[in-house]
Amino acid sequence: MEDSKFLSVCGKFTLDRYKERFLKCVVIDPHSGCWIWTKKGRAHGGYGMFSMYRKKFRAHRAALILIKKITPLPQYSVCHKCDNTRCVNPDHLFIGTHAENMHDCLNKGRAFRVRGEKSGRAVISDAQALELLRLPKETGLTRNRVAKLKAQEWGVSENTLKQILYGTNWKHLRA
Ligand SMILES: [Zn+2]
Repeated sequence: MEDSKFLSVCGKFTLDRYKERFLKCVVIDPHSGCWIWTKKGRAHGGYGMFSMYRKKFRAHRAALILIKKITPLPQYSVCHKCDNTRCVNPDHLFIGTHAENMHDCLNKGRAFRVRGEKSGRAVISDAQALELLRLPKETGLTRNRVAKLKAQEWGVSENTLKQILYGTNWKHLRA
């Protein structure tokens, strides 16, 4: 399948429409620079929620997907360095493990960084995910084989890539 065709099937353009809708729910605090989530409805822990492709995302997680165009892998949490759970400013967010979310996320003043490099990368880009989804069809390799090859190349876990290939994650790319 051609790239452009594939991207539209995957909802690239719809993703931009979601971004517009997302930004309408945001008010910027001029003092802190926090993007305050104003939409009603809260998840456990006080986080805002945003729906895309019939799936609910925590609003700050959606911010990384829509604004930074990166999707944190499911085993990583998105934490706030500003400690404001209503904030969805992608520059105020960093990616940590769940364990860190319970402890270190409360520490203030840390620079943005992607954690977990020892255990592999915390994110792959949307472009990489699209490539991954395209490969079985293009090459005729099985999804498991593709997961294995790309896991080595990108330094991420094979299981993570399988989750993407079998559609339990990254649904926003294929809806
Ligand atoms: Zn903030």
